[in-house]
Amino acid sequence: MSGNSSFDAIIIGGGHNGLVCANVLARKNKRVLICEARKECGGLVNNDITNYVPPVTSAVSSSIGGMQINYIPKTTIALSETGQHIRLVGNQHIDHKSISTFSSHDADRFNDFHEKMSKFSKTLGSFMMASPPRIMNNSFSDYFKLFKLGLNVRLLGKKNFNEFARMIGLNIADELEDNFENTLLQGLIAHDSVIGSNLGPRSPGSLINLLYRMAIHNNSLFGGIFQIEGGNDQFTKHLIEKCKSNNVKIKTSASVKNCIIENDCAVGVELNNGEKMYAKKIISNADPRSTYFSLLGSQNLDTDVKRKIKHHRSKGRVAKLILELDKLPSFNNCDDIDLDSRMVIAPSIDYIEETFNPSKFDKLSPEPTLEICVKKASNQNPKLDIQVQYAPYKTHQGWENIKESYVESIIRIISKYAPNINECIERKKLLTPDDIEAEYNVSGGHWHHGEIQIDQLFMMRPIPGASQYKTHLDGLFMCGAGTHPGGGLTGISGKNAAKAVLDDF
Ligand SMILES: Cc1cc2nc3c(=O)[nH]c(=O)nc-3n(C[C@H](O)[C@H](O)[C@H](O)COP(=O)(O)OP(=O)(O)OC[C@H]3O[C@@H](n4cnc5c(N)ncnc54)[C@H](O)[C@@H]3O)c2cc1C
Repeated sequence: MSGNSSFDAIIIGGGHNGLVCANVLARKNKRVLICEARKECGGLVNNDITNYVPPVTSAVSSSIGGMQINYIPKTTIALSETGQHIRLVGNQHIDHKSISTFSSHDADRFNDFHEKMSKFSKTLGSFMMASPPRIMNNSFSDYFKLFKLGLNVRLLGKKNFNEFARMIGLNIADELEDNFENTLLQGLIAHDSVIGSNLGPRSPGSLINLLYRMAIHNNSLFGGIFQIEGGNDQFTKHLIEKCKSNNVKIKTSASVKNCIIENDCAVGVELNNGEKMYAKKIISNADPRSTYFSLLGSQNLDTDVKRKIKHHRSKGRVAKLILELDKLPSFNNCDDIDLDSRMVIAPSIDYIEETFNPSKFDKLSPEPTLEICVKKASNQNPKLDIQVQYAPYKTHQGWENIKESYVESIIRIISKYAPNINECIERKKLLTPDDIEAEYNVSGGHWHHGEIQIDQLFMMRPIPGASQYKTHLDGLFMCGAGTHPGGGLTGISGKNAAKAVLDDF
């Protein structure tokens, strides 16, 4: 190993997981350097990209010495063209009352459904805070983890255990149609089951996506959905301040070209400008595909690993449309408080499935599903920040040729709910998954750096053999959303990865 390691750890990428990882290591007296390719840290935690976020758990917060940011809870509104919207806040009594104005049957079923899903998401969540066990690894701690995992599932009781096992591979549509009659309610829950993924509501595995989402959102369907006071950038600012106080060095505009490998071990990084830096451990906050193919280099991978990474599914399906406004539009039957809520346009399961279908063939749907967030900052014009699902990563015609008409089709959908939207728009900006890839250095532009599906979860995330934050190269670790448990503003991957790195010193 190179003798001149000036740092204990170099982290490639200053996304929020990289920043969390750096803080945890620095609090254990490790000398840490972050090399971030962009002009600023934060990665996808950017006001242009993220809308509504889960709360950071106390385990993550305490691992970095506390988080002082304010989470503001948000109501979710399923918009209806008739103006008969459904408003849900994550409170059993309020939500029951809201749904019962449409269907008392659905209101009663909602509470039972919620209770069941919440129980299962808690079980799933209990696996999230530690690295998953490694299969085929004869270590006592891995056996113990496996045992605990099995025990948590078993503790559900026989009936729930059978139900949990039955539901894991299911599609969410069947479950919703079994439980509810109101198509708007079905559409809303189905939307939240597939957001950020490459699945339609009728795709097997869409149900586990919802459980995953609930696990990070306080085990609730519509509670645990927040905005950060002052904007999501506050999250990054806070983590950077923590880095300063923990003596973490941050180098921005420092794009890492590759890892430096000596004697089959990662010992440093080389920047695009040729600068070289050395450390005892190298940790990548980049997505798995970039980590393996760019930083490690395909010439250093054996055939099996190359094949696994090649087949890792990480094509994004969410585009961002940002509409800068000179005044707020009027949404039918919505007041000011509603405009401060999370608004979803996904009127039924079939609507979502029909939106999903063309994306399988890299085609656009003229009627995408939308999550709309009104963002107001002092001294600035308001914005509509819209998550557009399912925008293909690449299109046959080439995005540049169809961006404009796609934007118009999205605005046409919004105008059904806010007829004066066109009069309010000053500027429009669409970020497609391949724009996100280029601007934020995430291959595929994927929400989670890789699909949340059963074959890419737990001990198979991101790929078998690399599921405990270690890559196939000694000394090189991963700490980003592509690792267990996945994406969203949780910092869990960063925290878990730091533990794996510390155990390796
Ligand atoms: C369109 C979209 C919308 C989303 N909306 C939400 C939302 O509303 N709520 C929510 O909770 N989550 C949302 N997410 C998901 C969430 O933003 C991500 O899961 C999370 O931010 C990932 O954090 P990370 O730190 O793991 O990675 P990233 O944020 O991707 O950070 C990785 C960092 O590594 C840097 N990097 C990469 N390669 C190199 C290199 N070679 N050299 C140096 N630096 C490098 C990048 O520049 C980047 O800063 C969204 C994601 C997308 C794509």
